[in-house]
Amino acid sequence: MNSTDRIELDILLVGGGHSHALLIRRWGMKPLPGVRLTLISSDVDTPYSGMLPGYLAGHYRHDEMHIDLARLCHWASVRFITATVTALDLEAREVMVDDGRPPVGFDLLSIDTGSTPDLSVPGAREHVLPVKPVSGLVDRWRTLQAQPEQPRNIAVVGAGAGGFELLLAARHALRHSGAGFHWLIRGRRPISDRPERVGERALAAARRADVNVVTDFDVEAVREGLLLARDGRRQAADAILWVTAASGPDWPGKAGLATGARGFIATNDCLQSVSHPFVFAAGDAGSHVEKPVPKAGVYAVRQAPILFENLRRMATGQALKPYRPQRDNLVLMALGEKRAIGTRGPLVIEGGWVWRWKDHIDRRFMQRFRDLPVMETGRTERKIIQPAAPTATTATTATTATTVTTATTAPAGVGEGQINAIVDDSWLFARIAALHAISDIGVVAAEPHSAQVIVSLADAVPAVAQRDLTSVMHGLDRELAANGFALAGGHTAFSETLSLALVVNALPGTAGSHSPDESGRSGGSPGGSDASRVTAGDALILTQPLGIGVLFAGFMRGAAAGRDLQPALEAMLQSNLPAGRILRRHGASAMTDITGFGLLGHARRLCDSLAADTAVGITLDIAAMPVFATARELAAAGIRSSLWHENRKALAAIENPAGTALPESELSLLVDPQTGGGYLGVLPAAEADAALEALAVAGYRSAAVIGHVDARAGVRLA
Ligand SMILES: Cc1cc2nc3c(=O)[nH]c(=O)nc-3n(C[C@H](O)[C@H](O)[C@H](O)COP(=O)(O)OP(=O)(O)OC[C@H]3O[C@@H](n4cnc5c(N)ncnc54)[C@H](O)[C@@H]3O)c2cc1C
Repeated sequence: MNSTDRIELDILLVGGGHSHALLIRRWGMKPLPGVRLTLISSDVDTPYSGMLPGYLAGHYRHDEMHIDLARLCHWASVRFITATVTALDLEAREVMVDDGRPPVGFDLLSIDTGSTPDLSVPGAREHVLPVKPVSGLVDRWRTLQAQPEQPRNIAVVGAGAGGFELLLAARHALRHSGAGFHWLIRGRRPISDRPERVGERALAAARRADVNVVTDFDVEAVREGLLLARDGRRQAADAILWVTAASGPDWPGKAGLATGARGFIATNDCLQSVSHPFVFAAGDAGSHVEKPVPKAGVYAVRQAPILFENLRRMATGQALKPYRPQRDNLVLMALGEKRAIGTRGPLVIEGGWVWRWKDHIDRRFMQRFRDLPVMETGRTERKIIQPAAPTATTATTATTATTVTTATTAPAGVGEGQINAIVDDSWLFARIAALHAISDIGVVAAEPHSAQVIVSLADAVPAVAQRDLTSVMHGLDRELAANGFALAGGHTAFSETLSLALVVNALPGTAGSHSPDESGRSGGSPGGSDASRVTAGDALILTQPLGIGVLFAGFMRGAAAGRDLQPALEAMLQSNLPAGRILRRHGASAMTDITGFGLLGHARRLCDSLAADTAVGITLDIAAMPVFATARELAAAGIRSSLWHENRKALAAIENPAGTALPESELSLLVDPQTGGGYLGVLPAAEADAALEALAVAGYRSAAVIGHVDARAGVRLA
C-alpha cells in the first residue's frame, strides 16, 4: 500500500511457505488500498523444498534454493517480521511470537506454516535430524559434513518421495566418506501412493547406490546411535534423517481452531477455516475437511492465487472463490546424481533428461522471486531513522540534566531509505530508535533517567493505530528499561508514516570519566578526566563494525540479501552504554559515537575538539577496521549510500604520509554513514587489550584497536 493510504484493515500472513511467497508477489503487483499486509516467518530465507535434495547433493547453492522473504516483502511493501508464532488468541485476534514482542494483532489471518514430521516415536525428538524445519536440517547437515569424523552409519526413516530423494542426495554428498546408508521402510515397498513400478525403480536406484534397504522396519523407539523396530530388530545409525508422515502445527488447534487428522487446520473449499471464517490456511498446514490433497508443494503453489483472491474478497465483503485441486500431480524425484524418476498417473519415466527437466522447472520457479518486476507507482517514503545530525550532546553540571535529542523523521534520500526496508517492523524500529538516542548519553558518561517521546503514527483506523502504538511503546519501554530508566511522558500524533522523536534526559555520571564530545570541550565531571589526558600513543578503539549504510543501500538496490542485514541489525540492537562504561573503566579520555558522518567525519570532529587544547591528531589503521562482511563486498562493487557524496569530502583532509595505495572502496567505508553505529574511544595503549577483552565478554566481539593518537594535529592513515 502507499504511505498515504489510511490503514483500515490488517491482514496477517503467518509462515513464509510457497502459498504466501507467491501471494506476496501478486500483492506487490496488485495491492488493495487501505489494507496492510504483514508477514511473520521464522526464516528470512524460505527454502524451496523441490531443490532441497539437489542442495544436499551439492548441485545448488544456498541462494539458488531460498526465497529472500525480506527482499520480496520490501519490494511488495509488505511488513516483514522475522519470528516464530507460538500461540493464537482467536478472541482477541492476536498471535504470540517468540522474540519478546507484544502479541501481533490482525483482522484477517492466513496460515502457511507447512508441516513437520511426526516426532512422537520415543527418543525421536532427542536423536534424529527431522527434515523440517528445513533450515534446521540444513544447519545440522552442514555441521555433520564439516565434522572431522564422518558418521559410519546413516539411516533414513521414511519411505515417501521426500525420504527417497533425501536418501540418495545424502548418499551422493557423502559418496567418498565410506559411510554405510540404510533405508528403513515400514512396509514392503516405498512410495506406495504411486504405481508399483515407481517403488520398484526407487528400490533399484537405492541398491545401485549401495544402500542397505530394510523393509517392514516399523520404528518403535530411537536411542543414541540405534533404531529399534517393533519386531525386535535393531539398526545401528550415527545419524538418522527423519522424513516420516507430516503433521500440522499444534498451536492452531490449541487455540480452538478446528483441526482434522494429524492437526492440520480444517478448511472448506475456499481455504477458509471451518470454525473461524476470518482465518485461512494454505499449503501443508491446511486440509480440506472432505477432499484433502497430498502434502506437496505443487498444491501450495496452486492455492496461492485463490488465497490471494479470497483474502481480497473477504476484505471487501465479496463472495469467496472455491479452490479446485488438480486430480493428479507430476512427481519428479532426483536420484542424488543428476538423474531423476518422474511419474504422473500410470506414466513412469527415468533418466538424465528427467533431472534436467526438473532442474528447469525448479529454476524457473525460483526465477520468479529473483526477477521482481519494476513497479511504476512510487512506494518510496516510509519510516526511516535519520542518522543523527552532528551530535547535540551537551553535558552540564552535576545538578543539571543532560538532554540528548534524537529526532527520527522521514526525509527523502536513499541513505535513510536503506533503513526503512528492514525496520518496517514497528517494534524493531522503536527499539533501534531508542538505542540510537540513548547512545548519545553514553558518550558523555551521563546516566539517563527519563525520556519523552512523540510518536507519529501512520494514518489508520483506531484499532490499527492502537496496535501500532502498543508495538512501538513496547519496543521503546523495553530498551529504556534495559538501560535503567523509563518514559516520563509523550504525545501521539498522526502523519503519513510512523516516526518517533525521542528526548532522553540524563544526569552526568558520578563514576568514571567525563569525556569531551565532538561538539566541543566538556566541562569535566567529579572524579573524571578530560581531553588534557589524551596523549600521543593512546589507542583508538572502535566497538562495532562499519558498513551499515552500504549494507542497507545494497539491500535497497537488490545487491544484498535480507540475511546480509542481520549482523548489522544485531549490532544496532545492542546498546552502546555498556561499551561506554567499559571504555571509561579502562581510562577512556574521549569518546564519540559513529553516526551520520561516518567514522572519518566523527573522528575528525573528535580530533578537532581535542586539538583545541593539545596538539594531537590521529592515525587510522584502515586494515584493522572491523567491517560487516558483505559491506566490504558491496563497497567493492561500487555500492554507496546517498550520504556518502556529502561525507566523502572529509576524505580530502586525510593525510597519507606513507602514500598507502588504498582502493577507493576501502576509503568509502571510512565515510559510510552509520545508524546505531558503535563508539570510538581514546584510551591509554596499555589498557587496550584489557578493554578489548572486556568488550568481547560484553558482546562487542568485533571491537578492535583501529589506530592511535599522534602528537601532530590532523587525521592520517597508517
Ligand atoms: C525432501 C523433500 C522434497 C520435497 N520435494 C517436493 C517436490 O519436489 N515437489 C513438491 O510438490 N513437494 C515436495 N515436497 C513437499 C513440500 O516440501 C511441501 O509440501 C511444501 O513445502 C509445503 O509448502 P508450504 O507452503 O505448506 O510450507 P513450507 O514450504 O513448509 O514453508 C513453511 C514456512 O513457514 C515458516 N514457519 C513454520 N512455522 C512457523 C511459525 N510457527 N511461525 C512463523 N513461521 C513459521 C517456515 O519457516 C517456512 O518458511 C518435498 C518434501 C521434502 C521433505
